[in-house]
Amino acid sequence: LPDVADVRIAMTSEKKDRRLIVVGSGKGGVGKSTVAANLAIALRQAGVKVGLIDADIYGPSQPRLMATEGERPHAEDQKLIPIDSRYGIPMLSLGHLVKPGQAIAWRGPMAGNALGQLIDAQWGDAELLIADLPPGTGDVQLSMIQKHKPSGAVIVSTPQDLALIDATRAIDLFNQANVPIIGLIENMAGYQCPHCGEVSDPFGTGGAEAAAKSMGYPFLGRIPLDIAIRKASDAGTPPAASNAAEGRTFHEIAARLRE
Ligand code: ADP
Repeated sequence: LPDVADVRIAMTSEKKDRRLIVVGSGKGGVGKSTVAANLAIALRQAGVKVGLIDADIYGPSQPRLMATEGERPHAEDQKLIPIDSRYGIPMLSLGHLVKPGQAIAWRGPMAGNALGQLIDAQWGDAELLIADLPPGTGDVQLSMIQKHKPSGAVIVSTPQDLALIDATRAIDLFNQANVPIIGLIENMAGYQCPHCGEVSDPFGTGGAEAAAKSMGYPFLGRIPLDIAIRKASDAGTPPAASNAAEGRTFHEIAARLRE
């Protein structure tokens, strides 16, 4: 049965000339949310009016990354009002709609409905919405593709074979729905030992770049495995927001996204 609430949301949508870019990955834990938050910040610092949507129903981590944990959005005229993060980026996360630590065990229609509410919120003058998707190719991705028609997808993968195979599946889903692949980002490539400075590659390196090349998609950049990125993310101060060296890569990737 069609979900009545969903239909209402789709019809009242006011997002006409606002672009929606999704950040996806084949599997979890590859740094998709980290990349989405840092790219949003880098784009904002470059003058783009960005809004951030956290659609990861399995592990909404944007409230932690953007330091808005525990905040609750208000609604006006049946529409959610995004929360203002300290980085000048309005945002909404499924994590803002449930109690901290509460499992989100929603079936397809409910997840689709929640996603619709996040996208059709009062985004004001935001010209670009960046949506952090759940990993894989499930209900939320389908709902996103079918109802909200993103203008492009950025795929995050580690350099490892298994992650890449999963990433290829995610790419296939976007292809089938004619969502253009903006490019691939390789995360967790190369680890520099803080003690001796030697670089090792726990997940290999270059895999995502090679995959992008063989599939004919742009390769947007490589982010090293760096303990400073993990610490800054956990502290709600994504590296792209500070002048930290480890934030530079995100600004470079954001510049490529704007081209
Ligand atoms: P996903 O959204 O794909 O599930 P996250 O962005 O939540 O992944 O990242 C998973 C964990 O890995 C987090 O603790 C995050 O801080 C950490 N992380 C992500 N990218 C890096 C990196 N380049 N270096 C170090 N830690 C990272």
